Amino acid sequence: MAELEIKNVVKEYSLGKMKFRALEDINLSFEKGELVSIMGESGSGKSTLMNLIGGLDSDYQGDILIDGKNLKDFKDKQLDDYRKKKIGFVFQSFNLIPHLSILDNVTIALTLSNVKESVKNEKAIEILTKLGLKEQIKKKPTQLSGGQKQRVAIARALINDPDIILADEPTGALDSQTTTQILNLLKEIADDEGKLVIMVTHSEKVASISSRVVEISDGKIVRDEKAENYQKRTTKRQLIIHKENQEVAQEKPKKEKHLSFLSALKLSIHNMWASKVKNILMAIGVSISLIALIIMLSFGSGLTGYINSLAQSYSDPTIATISKSGLDRNGNEIEDQGGMSFMPDMFEESEISEIVTELNTYLQQNDSEFRVITEGEDKNLSYGYFMITMAAGSILYTKADGSSASSQIMATYTTPPYYDENQLITDNSTISGEDEIMLSRAIVSAMGYENPEDVVGKTVKLQINFSYNDTLINIDKDVTISGLVDVSVFSGMTVMYIDYDYLDKCVIEAQNTENPTGLKPSQLYIQTDSEQTTDLINRYISQNRKDLTGSVEEQLASMFSEMMSTFSVALAIIGGISLIVALIMILVVLYMSVSERTREIGVLKSIGARKKDIKLIFSTESLLIGIISAISGILLSLIIIGVLSLIFNSLLGFAPIAVEWQYLLIAFVISVVISVLAGLYPASKAAKLDPVESLRHE
Ligand code: ADP
Ligand code: MG
Repeated sequence: MAELEIKNVVKEYSLGKMKFRALEDINLSFEKGELVSIMGESGSGKSTLMNLIGGLDSDYQGDILIDGKNLKDFKDKQLDDYRKKKIGFVFQSFNLIPHLSILDNVTIALTLSNVKESVKNEKAIEILTKLGLKEQIKKKPTQLSGGQKQRVAIARALINDPDIILADEPTGALDSQTTTQILNLLKEIADDEGKLVIMVTHSEKVASISSRVVEISDGKIVRDEKAENYQKRTTKRQLIIHKENQEVAQEKPKKEKHLSFLSALKLSIHNMWASKVKNILMAIGVSISLIALIIMLSFGSGLTGYINSLAQSYSDPTIATISKSGLDRNGNEIEDQGGMSFMPDMFEESEISEIVTELNTYLQQNDSEFRVITEGEDKNLSYGYFMITMAAGSILYTKADGSSASSQIMATYTTPPYYDENQLITDNSTISGEDEIMLSRAIVSAMGYENPEDVVGKTVKLQINFSYNDTLINIDKDVTISGLVDVSVFSGMTVMYIDYDYLDKCVIEAQNTENPTGLKPSQLYIQTDSEQTTDLINRYISQNRKDLTGSVEEQLASMFSEMMSTFSVALAIIGGISLIVALIMILVVLYMSVSERTREIGVLKSIGARKKDIKLIFSTESLLIGIISAISGILLSLIIIGVLSLIFNSLLGFAPIAVEWQYLLIAFVISVVISVLAGLYPASKAAKLDPVESLRHE
């Protein structure tokens, strides 16, 4: 039985609607050990024939029989195996994979069969040594001469010990001296190894050393001559030790006979390293979107944390707080009187009694025992006041080093009824009363102390100048700092807490008239009997009194959470857009990479890579991009968040940013997922490339 039989083969290329017949009724039969020269003018159909024999092109009429088996009956998997083990390809343009070393270029065919590293290297080195390339194994293809490159290609073709070597113009790119070397090598392969070597050549001289010459013209065979005096080589230099090859064959039936993930990873790393600038830039691009995401999430959680702590420190479920909302009862904006925007809306006595009456009616209607009481022993309504003092308020003090200094008071609060020792920072603090104030922590460093305890008990001069009910109030008092309060969000600023009655007394003193109005409250606190009652009061206010709202603190908290949600939405949009951009970027880069590597894909297919293998190589690459981007993005965002925290802490005394490990995990997963997703299309495109066209690709 002939090794290879070609029966009535016709090959047509379709050009649009037209058909072009490249091979017409080819009948050939080849035996082991033959060295066949295929000759013919350019365009006569030589490469077409080689591609058909090599199993790269399955679209033909007629039959190609290998050891009697019809190639047409082969399934995809068998065809891949056929290319991998039965055929060795050698091309005119060498087709080495540029980013792999010489050794890796040769072992690649074994890598596709998942042969053990040590075994495949040993085998490759042996063949390369016999081909005189021992010193070159670590080099890259570009560092070799043409003849050396072609010998590497021959080594690659031989590594799987195929029965048939197909060489398409193997010497076409070589000078005459190297041509002779390569021809001798191919002759050895036919003579000593007993392989069928079919080579395409234009040179009669080359043809003259072969055992058989087949000439094609316009797709037809016009000559088929066997050399009568064909001289077999006499010296045997076995290129492949067949016994050892059987060991390799026995080695193979490991779990998987195909490209392993680890080998794909190695190939990807090689390739990515070869175009590292591109890949680093891409990773930076993806990282930026991850950074946006991580920072967004961290800001969100940081701010939420602060708002929660704020709400907690300012709330007591048995105290209902009421202040003016700045709207009228119908919910319309009240015209700003101008000027006094820092001053709070204050309650007139008549307004207070109206609210109390309404509330008590509502409570009664809702079967509550509780009543708001404004006078006497059972009084449960108290007053509060808040103003942004800024330039209007300051305290003068003697610093730790003896010098005099002053600090502006950003905001002045009267101490709310739910304030207790728990809100105080130091053990020696007490809630302030007459001639006393409480300050936020910022005062400690302003006064030049390190220990908060040292500030407590110090006497300072309090000066507040503000316009109140159209008269100028000048408060100028010596007061003692009775304690330091934790004001979370505002801990970087000087905030003052002062007793309502004491402030009222100061105002009356400063008004200095016969009928002083005293301080009017901007907040009403109702000490209720239960959380349910508080809820009832809050419900009444929110449903019936658009002109009223909760406490200033609550307002601040809701303002912050509003700010935060706007901020989060903005960041989420930015983050989302940048992730989409990242995805498209990866897609484009990988897509370009596929077209850059079209030839390489063709080569891989010609040595038996399955579609799955090609897909695996490209998918692994996108996975790697995802992982690298994730790691760099996570590291960079940790650094950025660290810096932001420092800046916030020094500016505000707190950092509304908190990284949680889940965010890093989310970023990691997202990065990997979008990269892998982005890689799907290019990878499947690569896998689907036609091997013949890929090899033709310039
Ligand atoms: P050779 O290798 O002998 O120079 P080829 O086998 O490459 O010639 O090509 C034979 C003929 O088939 C040429 O005329 C070529 O233009 C044509 N041909 C080759 N490949 C294609 C293709 N993919 N589509 C259409 N025509 C093709
Ligand atoms: Mg050709």
